[in-house]
Amino acid sequence: MTASARRLLTESPRLSDAGDANPAWHPILADLQNSLPSQAYHTWFEPLQAFLSPEEMLLVEVPSRFYYEWIEGHYADLLDHVLEARLGNRNALQYILSSSGALNLEPEPAPVPDMVPPVSNGHTLTNGSGDSRNGLNPRYTFDRFIEGPPNRFARAASLAVAQSPGATSYNPLLIYGGVGLGKTHLLQAIGNAAQQQFPDQKVRYISSERFTKEFVEAIKANRGDRFSAHYRNVDLLLMDDVQFLVGRDRTLMEFFHIFNNLYQAGKQIVLSSDKPPKELNGLDERLVSRFGWGLVCDIGPPDFDTRVAIIETLSEHERVPLDMDVIEYLATRFTNNVRDIQGALIRLVAHASLTGTDISLDLAKKALHDLVGTHKRKVSVDRVQRIVATHYNVAPDLLMAKLRSQPIARARMIAMALALRLCHLSLKQVGANFGGRDHTTVLHARDRVIQWEDEDKEFASELKELIRHIESDED
Ligand code: ADP
Ligand code: MG
Repeated sequence: MTASARRLLTESPRLSDAGDANPAWHPILADLQNSLPSQAYHTWFEPLQAFLSPEEMLLVEVPSRFYYEWIEGHYADLLDHVLEARLGNRNALQYILSSSGALNLEPEPAPVPDMVPPVSNGHTLTNGSGDSRNGLNPRYTFDRFIEGPPNRFARAASLAVAQSPGATSYNPLLIYGGVGLGKTHLLQAIGNAAQQQFPDQKVRYISSERFTKEFVEAIKANRGDRFSAHYRNVDLLLMDDVQFLVGRDRTLMEFFHIFNNLYQAGKQIVLSSDKPPKELNGLDERLVSRFGWGLVCDIGPPDFDTRVAIIETLSEHERVPLDMDVIEYLATRFTNNVRDIQGALIRLVAHASLTGTDISLDLAKKALHDLVGTHKRKVSVDRVQRIVATHYNVAPDLLMAKLRSQPIARARMIAMALALRLCHLSLKQVGANFGGRDHTTVLHARDRVIQWEDEDKEFASELKELIRHIESDED
């Protein structure tokens, strides 16, 4: 690794506040393309997307820590040079982990509908599978979705909905499951299949984060009405990751109205969430009960045979031939989700091309040894509490107590917010771990900490350091 100060940020800044990075990023990409062998450019740089942080920092999204290390390990000098030339500062770029990890397979973010001038010729705005404004990425299809027992039901329901949107009893269809299990893939596949079969229908895929961002922007620009009208006008709404609407009261209200409108008009709604509806604490209960009006189905982690099938398909698609012993090694070691499997494969391929060797079981063991077994580790609430308490010099027990003195209350809020970010728990579960506080208290802590991060740079870096410590092996 070089002396570069370009970092991989462990906690992504809120990109919903970010601006358009392309005017800065595209010239940098062009320079890189001119300086690199085309294979290297296409493999490592072309797929990357950049965002602009509120501080005007270029944030480049990478699919894994390994990817970041690779780029900085191999191209740091070139990046120094290009960044100096283009931005006058070699450290004006930092990296963030993409929230969904799968390189090159992410849906294109759809532009804000309100930015698009209205059309007067009667043609709809979102028609046609070639129109990126429906938010669909053609890579995600049913063909590419490998079926197995844990996803069979969700897949079948998705297929039924795609074939007759709005005309099945699966309205809304809600698919829930952990990260990397194929929720986005299925939502996108529904959209692609429906759009292909019914080119005149208005299909719209959107993540709830992006929906929130668009809504906030529309309100700011006094275009709330056009925003509503746009969404009330779709035939098939695919809303990904609804759990991110928790705590966004105004956006939720807007979504609630859109939902009712579409539902009453017999339009199809498909939603995904990382947990079952009843655990979506903090969402409007009326909305949660409506989620149950249609069909709710879950996706579980793939079983062994499905994992093998997924790896085989990936290796075919990526034209990386793999022996059966390597496939079985991957399928035995990476059991959590499909995204981890893809990450392992990318890394394996990179190692093989670096060392100029064929992919073998030996190479797989060498290349992946540090991922195996560690990719499952979750941070415990205990650990968060202990490290935060020590850092702020308070007794860990006090984080659970009712005491409200200033320094304790502040440390407690920080610990709650970090537990929420790092421990994969619901608001309710975090509250329960802090002396039985309720989910609104946790929500409040989350928002306050975000606010402090925004207002106070020193606090923001203190928090980053805390996160790094918590996620490390140090005591
Ligand atoms: P989620 O939205 O549930 O977090 P994604 O849909 O983003 O997960 O899936 C992560 C990656 O794994 C994507 O690249 C997706 O195409 C792939 N994937 C997930 N499930 C399957 C499957 N059953 N067959 C093939 N690829 C899958
Ligand atoms: Mg997803």
